[in-house]
This record gives sequence, structure tokens and C-alpha cells, in this order.
Amino acid sequence: MTDSIGTRRVGRRGFLAGAGAGALAGALPATAGAAKKPAKKAAKKPKTKKVDVCVVGAGLCGLTAARDLRRAGLKVHVIEADKRVGGRVWTDFTSDHVPANYGATFIGPGQDRIAALASELGVKTYLTYNDGKNVLYFDGQRQLYTGTVPPIDVASLVEAQLLINQLNSMAQEIDPAAPWKAPHAKEWDGQTFETWKLANAKTDGARKLMDLAIEALFSVQSPEVSLLFVVFYIRSAGNLNLLVDTPGGAQESQFVGGSQQIPEKLAASLGKGAVTLDSPVRYVITKGRLTTVRSERITVVARRVLIAVPPPMVTRIVFEPGLAALKDQLYQHLPLGSIGKAIAIYDTPFWRKAGLTGQATGDTGPMKATFDLTPPSGSPGVMMGFIDGQDARVFGTWTQQERHDRCIEQFAVYFGDEARKPRQFLNVLWDEQPLHRGCPVTVPGPGVLTAFGDALHARDGARFFASTETATVWAGYMDGAIQAGQTVAAEIAKDLG
Ligand SMILES: Cc1cc2nc3c(=O)[nH]c(=O)nc-3n(C[C@H](O)[C@H](O)[C@H](O)COP(=O)(O)OP(=O)(O)OC[C@H]3O[C@@H](n4cnc5c(N)ncnc54)[C@H](O)[C@@H]3O)c2cc1C
Repeated sequence: MTDSIGTRRVGRRGFLAGAGAGALAGALPATAGAAKKPAKKAAKKPKTKKVDVCVVGAGLCGLTAARDLRRAGLKVHVIEADKRVGGRVWTDFTSDHVPANYGATFIGPGQDRIAALASELGVKTYLTYNDGKNVLYFDGQRQLYTGTVPPIDVASLVEAQLLINQLNSMAQEIDPAAPWKAPHAKEWDGQTFETWKLANAKTDGARKLMDLAIEALFSVQSPEVSLLFVVFYIRSAGNLNLLVDTPGGAQESQFVGGSQQIPEKLAASLGKGAVTLDSPVRYVITKGRLTTVRSERITVVARRVLIAVPPPMVTRIVFEPGLAALKDQLYQHLPLGSIGKAIAIYDTPFWRKAGLTGQATGDTGPMKATFDLTPPSGSPGVMMGFIDGQDARVFGTWTQQERHDRCIEQFAVYFGDEARKPRQFLNVLWDEQPLHRGCPVTVPGPGVLTAFGDALHARDGARFFASTETATVWAGYMDGAIQAGQTVAAEIAKDLG
């Protein structure tokens, strides 16, 4: 569903408007003497279902949990606000049916859960194109290089490597289940990554590379993120190299046919009628031993509820009784990053002929990192640029024509004039998506994990909470979403004993 320039149109009614109205309707008394509006046609009453567990959110986390709970012999129903399953895993198709991943795309070594799930569901992978030279565009100069070491001055390179080693060794101190309990937790959570970078990196090149890594991983700027969270993230993946590399790292492979097939097939495996789509959950009301989950198209009464929604979106649901204070406070302190993607489709991946991998790194926006997402058949050529952090916020102020023109111009700066003639241009800004309002993950600032961390994994009576944000392995990734789903499903099954 794209127009000629490729704006992603959100066809469904704005979720926020509805949620806000719902919350107000519940919270405000009717105004005495208010003029009566003419009676509207009575809305169809949502159907009601009784189950053991109601799962809110059909992302990879919620769907994985639903499957495990069913396997444990429990009756489960999943409610999803969107018209599709997958959440942050979202594949659109170009006008000639080529998959274009707006959300999660890559899978790499160590991400064993998503690899196993894809293989079980019959979704194959292929290697991200990596033959030839990469582009580095720093200070208005374009340079080509091979491998992982960019052509910057030796002092900066040496310092950058020392910083990477230092971060990797700090990560060893972290228990990913409770990073706020690490021996240096207070010290590291008492500063932003920016503060640490300025204190430890003296060269411009190393500072620039550190900033680029933060933007690429979290889609925020270095002053916005706690050092402790950065170190936790590295620990949950294994090391920093695994996070940023293409061969041997998190960008190594892609899924043939697009990533969204995985949640789609997973949802289908739950059986007919197990998932209600297009039905935002508005209220979660617990009375005695049962919880009633009220959504637009279905009401589900359950013994336990799993809220498998990213933290900022949880607080847009009305809970009765209200959430535990520490959990609510935690969620108020967990903003999502700002991220967009620009995808240009060409007749051929012309950069390959020029001996280029399609991977560019630049120091100016809108797109500071690009990848070749051409399907394994080799045609058409698909070029994708990430738009992260402050660049995404600026991108959001541009018209569709400006987005098109500036991204295409930047592809041309990286890869040459042929980039000026795409046959289609698509773009998405996750901050604009009503059910997400940012991505790819929530990013705590300083002081948050040490003050509120204990609430992250905690249940709240009959209400359980999970998403990739609660993962202890590959947090922020598809693999983490699956691990979080598996972990919470085991807890719920045990609780229902
Ligand atoms: C641009 C981008 C690039 C990424 N790249 C990668 C990558 O290359 N590799 C990788 O592994 N990961 C990547 N990720 C991260 C990955 O997509 C996520 O970690 C993972 O998909 C999160 O899954 P989840 O189930 O925890 O949450 P989500 O996918 O967010 O699922 C939550 C679901 O809850 C629904 N929901 C929200 N509110 C309500 C409500 N009130 N009622 C009912 N339903 C509701 C949402 O619509 C959504 O479907 C990327 C993400 C983005 C956005």
C-alpha cells in the first residue's frame, strides 16, 4: 500500500485517538447539562471468549509465548491492534512484488532462537551481499575500503579498537538478568555514553565511530543513552563486534521472501481463530481471579494476561487496578529510539558491477549506513539506508518529495549517478507509526536501570509483561523477542501449575 513516491500510508484508524478517547471516557464524569448528541447506530458488541491466558500483542514475543503456552496444554487467545501480525517485523512489497523489510531484516551468528524458528517454519536465509569494497564518506570525502577497518588515521583507529576492547571487557561484568546489580552499575548508570566517550576518546575519528555505533544500535544520540545500558546490550549479544559486523555479525544474513513470513507462519501454527487482528486493547480489568481484556473487536476473560507490547505502548492501555507504581514509573522512563528506512529499487544492483558491497558509512544524514537488500535471485537491485536518531527526527519534518530527493541524492553520493534513477522509492518512519511511535528498542537514559530496573521482569498480579526489552540474550533483536516470549510462557505455565 504505497503511493508513487512510496509513502507508507496507515490505512487504519489512528490508534492513539481511539485510546485517548477511551481513557477519557473511563476517567471523566459526564458533564451535567451537556447537550445530547444524536444517537448513532448502535456499535456491534464485541464477542467474548474465555481462556486460560490472553496475550496482548502479536509480535514475535507474544506469538512465541502463545505457542509455548498452548504446548503446555493451556487455552490461549492473542489480540493484536494492527491488521497484520509481526509488530516490529514488517515486510511490505514493491510494485513488482519484491519484499521490502521496513523493520527487522538481518540475522547473524549466535541468534540461535530466530534461526531455529525460521528453519522450523521453512523460511530460508541468504548471505547479505559483501563482495567488493565499502564506502566511507567522512568530511565530504569519499573513500573505498575492504573489510571492517575504515580508512581513517591510525591514531583514531588504534583508539577506537582500544575503546571496543574496553567496552567488551566491561560487558563481562554484567549479569544480563540484572545489569543494575553489576559492581560498577551506579558509576556506569550515572553517566551517558557521551560522557564516557568524551572522557575516554581523544581523537576525532574514534569519537565519530563511537557515535555512529550508538546511532546504528539504538537510533538515538550518544547523550541520550546510559553507559550501563550500552554495556548491558553488548553483554546480551556477546560482544560489540557481533552487534556491528556484517559477515560474522548481526547483519550477516537475511530471510528469503522477507522477515514477516516468520510471525505469519507462527501465528498460523496457533490454529484458526487463535488471533484477533485489528483490535487494539483498551482496558485490562482484574477482579478477583479473572482478568477481562477489552479490545475493539473482542473481549477476552482470562486467568492470566501477558502484555507483549513495548513499554511505551503499555501505558496507553487502561489498567484496573493501576499498574504497580515502580513498573509504571519504569515505563515512563523508557523512550523508543527514532528510526526510519529509505529503500530504493533499481533495475539491477548496479553498485555490484562497480565492485561495491552496497555498504556505506557516512558522517552526515539522512542515511549514515546503507545495505544491499537485493533478493537472492540478484534482481531487482534493492538499496536500503538507515535513518537514525536525530536524522530521523529531522526526516519527519520533510515532505515526501524532500525525503525522496535527499535520500536519492545521498545514494548517488555513495554509489554514483546510476542511483539517481530508481524505479521505485519507499520510505518508512517508525516514529510516525501509530502502534509504535519509534523503534527499534527502548533506550534508558542515565539513572533509569539502577532506579527502576527491578520492575523490568516483575509480574503484577495476574498481569505478566514481556517484549524484546525484557530479553537477557540479544535484547532488542528478534532473537531476544523469542527468548523473552519463551521465558515468560514458562513462568505463566508454572504459575497456573
Ligand atoms: C527498523 C527496524 C530494524 C530492525 N532490524 C532488526 C534486525 O535486522 N534484526 C533483528 O533481529 N531485529 C531487528 N529489529 C528489532 C526487532 O524487530 C524487534 O526486537 C522485535 O521484532 C520485537 O518483537 P516484540 O514481540 O518484542 O515486539 P513488537 O514486534 O513491537 O510486538 C508488539 C505488538 O503489540 C501490538 N500492540 C501494541 N499495542 C497494542 C494494544 N493496545 N493492543 C493490542 N496489540 C498492541 C503491536 O502492534 C505489535 O504487533 C528492528 C526493528 C526495527 C523497527
